[in-house]
Amino acid sequence: MNFFNVDSQIEITAFDMVFINQVFHAAKNSSTWNPEISLTEYLKIVPVFLLSDNSMQKFDYVIRKSEDPDRNPSTEYLGFYKRLTDITESIPYIPAIFICPERIWKSINKPFNKNKINYQELLTKVIIHEFAHAKMDTGRNDKFPDYSEEFYRYVEEPLANWFVLKYLYHYGNGHFFNVAKEFINSQPDEYKKGVDLFENSIPDNCWKNWLELKKTEINKKDKVDYMNGIKSKAFKDFTESFKKLCSVPK
Ligand SMILES: [Zn+2]
Repeated sequence: MNFFNVDSQIEITAFDMVFINQVFHAAKNSSTWNPEISLTEYLKIVPVFLLSDNSMQKFDYVIRKSEDPDRNPSTEYLGFYKRLTDITESIPYIPAIFICPERIWKSINKPFNKNKINYQELLTKVIIHEFAHAKMDTGRNDKFPDYSEEFYRYVEEPLANWFVLKYLYHYGNGHFFNVAKEFINSQPDEYKKGVDLFENSIPDNCWKNWLELKKTEINKKDKVDYMNGIKSKAFKDFTESFKKLCSVPK
């Protein structure tokens, strides 16, 4: 993993690196691991920039809501994935991840976290989530989906958290898995839905179908049907709606 500290007061330490690598390694070596959902190849090619809280604020308008005092923050408040363009705009697709260790540190001390997830665990959770976005990017010379549109957030954020739970389940399905699941359960709704996807065991290839679907112009009716399904109160409906959209290759 390639970290570059832009202006963060908190560095990624050797201990942090050992912990993060251990999680990726252990998951990969689990006998039930499906290599198709692996993020390893992206760890080498997508750089991770560390930002201060101050620098993160410049992106908060794109990265939607900041903090809700009654919930854990959205993952994107702590870090985000973005396509950068070079200054001449001749290269349209340069993937990059930005992380704010300061915000991660503050989040673990919030009362609703009840100190359950620790700093290194939350840092790792954010990193897996953002690399999942990198994997689900189409990598083409096309428009980056507009994530201010609820529809995109309600598909991609649960999926990115599903990747987190898959990794932590294969890491040992122990303490880290449980605290991360609890953390996600107190995140904003579109993030929390990642737990539903995991618990209802959606097929491992959903992310792939979503990637293919994003390359197309998704019609309005499919979007409306999907949003109706997920806004329904019934727990099962969300996964059904999700499977309908993402289980079948389009
Ligand atoms: Zn996200």
